[in-house]
Amino acid sequence: MSLSLLLVEDQRDLAESIWDFFERRGHRIDHAADGALGLRLAIDGGFDVIILDLGLPRLDGLELCRRLREAGRGTPVLMLTARDTLDDKLRGFAEGADDYLVKPFAMRELEARVLNLQRRQSGGDDRVLSHGPLSLRPGQRSCQREGVELALSPIQTRLLERLLQTAPGVVRSEDLLQAGWGEMAPGSDALHSQIRALRALIDRPFAQPLLHTVHGLGYRLQTTID
Ligand code: CA
Repeated sequence: MSLSLLLVEDQRDLAESIWDFFERRGHRIDHAADGALGLRLAIDGGFDVIILDLGLPRLDGLELCRRLREAGRGTPVLMLTARDTLDDKLRGFAEGADDYLVKPFAMRELEARVLNLQRRQSGGDDRVLSHGPLSLRPGQRSCQREGVELALSPIQTRLLERLLQTAPGVVRSEDLLQAGWGEMAPGSDALHSQIRALRALIDRPFAQPLLHTVHGLGYRLQTTID
């Protein structure tokens, strides 16, 4: 199938190679060489997947991603990074990237990741999970509490999905790490910071806290305190 892609990459030779490769494979590709233009095009929308470089002039990839999610756009983002450090990857995910690829990479690998993201997005996942006043459509990455739409990152969506599946039961920390990050699960600090961020979104603006810590075990969603 033919995809519509946005490529945000300032490195001209790499951008040209990616452009040529995807055009020859029958996909449509738009290009921005800086983050500010990239963000404008990304917000205008209509793309199946955004291929986003981390280091960009005018607005870096992480900031672009954060603003895109803030604007309520759920287009899948594949982050390209020259810096193979776990920190950058984790930050990328926290800011709303869905996958990453470390430079240099093979074009076929890039294509496989892009197709995978597109499939995941259009997989027809229209499940609605809810507990008390909280509801989540994982496929649309749409979360609401008391009628207020809350903008979750991909990781936060996966964590909340796992919590909602088990609510009001307890989800162990190791299960949440697996749900959030899969095989590249980081340490518990990353989980704590994501739980903090999730609380700020789903609990802080509201009267009743829903997300509770079960010390030494994990976390649970619960509408009433025992
Ligand atoms: Ca760059």
